[in-house]
Amino acid sequence: MIIAEQKEISEIINMVGDHRKILVIGCDTCVTVCLSGGAKEVAILASALRLAFRVQGKQVEVNETTIERQCEIEFVDSLESMAKDKDLLISMGCGIGVQTIAERFFHLPVVPALNTKFLGLPEKQGVWVERCQACGQCVLDKTGGICPISRCSKSLLNGPCGGSQNGKCEINDEIDCAWHLIYERLKALNRLECLEEIMPVKDWSTSRDGGPRKMIREDMCL
Ligand code: SF4
Ligand code: SF4
Repeated sequence: MIIAEQKEISEIINMVGDHRKILVIGCDTCVTVCLSGGAKEVAILASALRLAFRVQGKQVEVNETTIERQCEIEFVDSLESMAKDKDLLISMGCGIGVQTIAERFFHLPVVPALNTKFLGLPEKQGVWVERCQACGQCVLDKTGGICPISRCSKSLLNGPCGGSQNGKCEINDEIDCAWHLIYERLKALNRLECLEEIMPVKDWSTSRDGGPRKMIREDMCL
């Protein structure tokens, strides 16, 4: 899922500027799971903004709502009635959610309340870790299901680099060496021969380097 965290309240207040009718919008999917932009966080941010504006002596109307997914226009459409009399929308979705709302409500300013961080998973309560960089050419079949692009500090496709110590990365000894993990996993799977295959130079045109990506499934198009 997409991992994001809330911006400092002072930054959000700055983004509000002189706007007077605000709608804070949450998202019920990834950012709810990572506790940054669900209904609960929307309620907390809306209350904090009301309080801050009252202290500043400003008359600002702060409304709040949460939709199922900000990254799908069908759900964003449901904001129409609440958004029409507002002069600013604050998205508590990921960067995709902010942009979907901006596309749908072309003449209304939309600002992000979150910083979108990475694709990952909850490791334990309050801790999220990166697991994928959406490189567009997955190699997990060759690496025992452990991603060398996102988990090796150097994104090595043919590791290890030789610097790991006791299973930890030479860049940061608080993180596991991805290639150590890959070795241990392939060993457990009795597939160590995978390490003898030299992976070719990666085609980074499938990643961000090729510009904004698009996926078309002809069989699904109407
Ligand atoms: S190899 Fe690429 S697509 Fe596969 S998990 Fe890693 S970054 Fe994601
Ligand atoms: S020590 Fe391991 S994780 Fe760190 S850069 Fe080298 S191969 Fe990658």
